[in-house]
Amino acid sequence: PIAVELEAVSRRYGDTTAVDEVSIRVPRGEFFTLVGPSGCGKTTTLRLIAGFEEPSAGTVRFGDRDVSGVPPEEREVGVVLQNYALFPHMTVGENVAYGLRFSDPPGDVSETERVAELLDLVDLPEATDRDPDELSGGQRQRVALARALAPGPDVLLLDEPMSALDAKLRERLRLQVRSIQRELDITTIYVTHDQEEALAISDRVAVMNGGHLEQVNTPQAVYRRP
Ligand code: ADP
Ligand code: ADP
Repeated sequence: PIAVELEAVSRRYGDTTAVDEVSIRVPRGEFFTLVGPSGCGKTTTLRLIAGFEEPSAGTVRFGDRDVSGVPPEEREVGVVLQNYALFPHMTVGENVAYGLRFSDPPGDVSETERVAELLDLVDLPEATDRDPDELSGGQRQRVALARALAPGPDVLLLDEPMSALDAKLRERLRLQVRSIQRELDITTIYVTHDQEEALAISDRVAVMNGGHLEQVNTPQAVYRRP
């Protein structure tokens, strides 16, 4: 089954066509990456899926549901952006608990237990009472991931979540993200300008250029040398 579908989606800003008739179908459980140079329309595409923007033309669907006009909090998406947007005045545990505000009230599991589960999932079991500024960049991104996953979203949207990290941390976080994605079997749409990262992490890659989709294929097929 298809989790997310874009049908001939465009987004214009005045004279700029940021996204130009892009059609994508992402099956449930896939790790799908949008890759391409700065300014090619990746972030705008992700924002259209998240519902932070509406298309100028075309349709975004979640499953069979046309989500035109549906606000982000009703799309069952978890979002992690490039620069960790943790609340600095809250502990790590409070930051993750904030994500639970967007879910239905939990049944028999307390908020504390749910936060502990989420911090276990991102391999930060001891971090609940710490302040975000005591953590490394990679640890902060894992807290942001735990917060995004807290409401149990159907789709995870990641926009350059590793770009502020050094090469070694990036590789570690990449493996962690991929292993969490597999464990939860969550449909994931990932944005990066880094081809090597796209190759390492994805089931399929969509190459964008100037707002267009140039090709969609497995990383092996996209990056095969002639
Ligand atoms: P990428 O994520 O690939 O770097 P973006 O989606 O951020 O690309 O941007 C694609 C194009 O759309 C760029 O030319 C950018 O300047 C333009 N753009 C994006 N958002 C806006 C906006 N809110 N207003 C005007 N232009 C925008
Ligand atoms: P990215 O680094 O992911 O490409 P940017 O830092 O370019 O993102 O853009 C951050 C925000 O600014 C986004 O909300 C984007 O839509 C908006 N934006 C990007 N380009 C422009 C632009 N030319 N005019 C107005 N807003 C823009």
